[in-house]
Amino acid sequence: MEAYFNHHGFCPVCAKDVDFSSVFAWYRDHLFCKKCGSLPRERALMQVLNDYFPDLKDRSVFEMALEKRAFSLRLSSYIKNHSFALFDAEKEYQPSDNRNEKNVVLEQLDIDDNSVDIVITHDLMNHVLKPRLALKEIARVLKPGGAHIFTVPLVNKTNSTVRRAERLSSGKIKHQQEAQYWGSATKPDGPLVTMDWGYDIGNFILTATQMPTTLMNIVDKDKAILGEMNEVVVSFKNG
Ligand SMILES: [Zn+2]
Repeated sequence: MEAYFNHHGFCPVCAKDVDFSSVFAWYRDHLFCKKCGSLPRERALMQVLNDYFPDLKDRSVFEMALEKRAFSLRLSSYIKNHSFALFDAEKEYQPSDNRNEKNVVLEQLDIDDNSVDIVITHDLMNHVLKPRLALKEIARVLKPGGAHIFTVPLVNKTNSTVRRAERLSSGKIKHQQEAQYWGSATKPDGPLVTMDWGYDIGNFILTATQMPTTLMNIVDKDKAILGEMNEVVVSFKNG
């Protein structure tokens, strides 16, 4: 199949000169680095780390994702105090692979208060059943001056954030919208989407945690950071 996009450039995730290619117009899930398999949102997040957190290798970093990918392997290769956990969207949700990784529930982290410099989450905040609680939990474990840096599809853009599903105190999941599952090219059986976030995500985070938040939108052809919904969300814990 002829590639929809082909370009030689530099991949911030594997830090190599590489070829990028996508055979679909939806770059967010298909514009891969041919060497490490990174996606635009991962290259954007790594570029934010490179540009604004130059002393990352000396920091404590806690990272969560639905699967372990090149991004995490790269961080663990040079950050001594890096830990990674698979995200458990619901108690029932068990990824079929990576069973050796510890699964975590974002609303209840087994981490001390004020102990982590940087928390990184990859496309998880649209799958948490209690987003306010999850954000508070991240704020709790961050050191003063620390940051939560993450990607999440801001599907609602300028429209307000809408909740799709929540967990009731009975433990049951209540759907406010039709059940939707966000998969990707590498992981098509994605978990339930609980939030359709918009650009008002910063207000939600500020209200929940008092953490001021900035949306960074990198567009860079040579790093193949192209397409929609590659915003990197950065929230700082005042210290
Ligand atoms: Zn790469």
